[in-house]
Amino acid sequence: MREIGHWIDGKRVAGTSGRHGDVYNPATGEVQARVALASKAELDAAVASAAKAQAGWAATNPQRRARVMMALVGLINRDMDKMAEVLSSEHGKTFADAKGDIQRGLEVIEFCIGAPHLLKGDFTNSAGPGIDLYSMRQPLGVVAGITPFNFPAMIPLWKMGPALACGNAMILKPSERDPTVPIMLAELCQEAGLPDGVLQVVNGDKEAVDAILDNEEIQAVGFVGSTPIAHYIYSRASANGKRAQCFGGAKNHMIIMPDADLDQAADALVGAGYGAAGERCMAISVAVPVGEKTADALRERLVPKVEKLKVGPWTAGDDVDYGPVVTRLARDTILQYVESGIAQGAELVVDGRDFKLQGYENGFYVGPHLFDRVTPEMDIYRKEIFGPVLSMVRAASYEEALGLAMNHEYGNGTSIFTRDGDAARDFANRVNVGMVGINFPIPVPLAYHTFGGWKKSGFGDLNQHGPDAFRFYTRTKTVTARWPSGIKEGAAFNFKAMD
Ligand code: NAD
Repeated sequence: MREIGHWIDGKRVAGTSGRHGDVYNPATGEVQARVALASKAELDAAVASAAKAQAGWAATNPQRRARVMMALVGLINRDMDKMAEVLSSEHGKTFADAKGDIQRGLEVIEFCIGAPHLLKGDFTNSAGPGIDLYSMRQPLGVVAGITPFNFPAMIPLWKMGPALACGNAMILKPSERDPTVPIMLAELCQEAGLPDGVLQVVNGDKEAVDAILDNEEIQAVGFVGSTPIAHYIYSRASANGKRAQCFGGAKNHMIIMPDADLDQAADALVGAGYGAAGERCMAISVAVPVGEKTADALRERLVPKVEKLKVGPWTAGDDVDYGPVVTRLARDTILQYVESGIAQGAELVVDGRDFKLQGYENGFYVGPHLFDRVTPEMDIYRKEIFGPVLSMVRAASYEEALGLAMNHEYGNGTSIFTRDGDAARDFANRVNVGMVGINFPIPVPLAYHTFGGWKKSGFGDLNQHGPDAFRFYTRTKTVTARWPSGIKEGAAFNFKAMD
């Protein structure tokens, strides 16, 4: 059995805790590797060593740090296919989607090449007689990233790129379900010139996470995962005086106005609802057609497209629209939600419960499901299902549709399909959701803007990537300097304004 350990001080090392987790191949249902689960002692040792390495890295000028990012871009491109294969085999997503996962992370590394510019401070010349004021952005020290299973390349890269470019050392604790790609990325960082110890990949579960939250050397925690864990991590990290940004789950609504291009909207819904088996925090899981006529016409277009979706292993290449979900437990949970939807009175229009794939009977596949006439009290509407299940909630008016998105506890992403600029503008202005698409189903912002949800989808102040990441991973120091010319004036006892 393949053993996956940790990446410490520039080397792959075996775990010493004696605890392991199984890493599956979701396409076949087989255990393909064992991942070491770190103890508190292992985590603390990794942090101590990172703290030593951080001082030299922080003293390396930003341009040289940016050159490491530049080299990393080339290396990730070189190894893209190799990493995508591993990613698909541990996560289950299609090969094309695995490449997309790496690509969207790579774009943040490209953005981080601009670190020298992004780290520039402010300067006020002659704020008073002989007085200059300047502020600088300094790295925090050792920071930690705790990441989810569903983007095992993208989210680790979103964390490590800005943190390292700012001069921090990082402890990355990836998901224990698909831990191989993060270690491959760490190896590429070393090849790109990152000094050993500046990036430590520590695999683990709650024990390692709790050790991160309580370690006094760690200054900041960036988390992405489900909402209950995001809230827990935010509370404990901030109670321990750490800076924390914790991104959680989602229930993303797409509003379809009566004037929308319904063919376009139906295509968008199928891609955004079922792509990656619905295991995306920006997946659309609720379609809200406005008016009965819109709903009927949309349903008519959706049903054949959903029925035709091809589900299979990533090795089947372009013949597959989406792959298995990540674990047997995830599959069972999704199917329980489907049963609850039926029991609570929703209409199951496309039923994927009997889906079986010959030759892959033990894989974690879930057929596509489409519900109509879902109402806000139902569990399939209130909870994040994180599977290939799309719910249609019929709204009588635009205001009712907007109200649904506004009143849901999650606020990650949302989208409106319309030909009316006024409605689109009103929606973008009023909706209390962090990322909005207009005739665009999955509005994940590009690397130079920032990514983050509102309400229960995000805890903390600043977003991921873009300029916010450079604020999150640095603290500001402001210097007031006086270089008086001429004779000393003696002590001043008042708290002087700059005159
Ligand atoms: P998860 O919350 O189960 O795990 C995330 C991380 O937390 C993992 O590293 C895991 O080891 C750790 N963890 C799990 N249980 C823990 C516990 N009890 N104590 C301490 N640490 C714990 O999430 P997941 O299943 O890996 O990922 C899917 C979730 O992530 C979905 O809810 C999805 O919406 C969300 N997500 C959100 C975003 C976003 O940007 N908002 C992006 C991607 C995924």
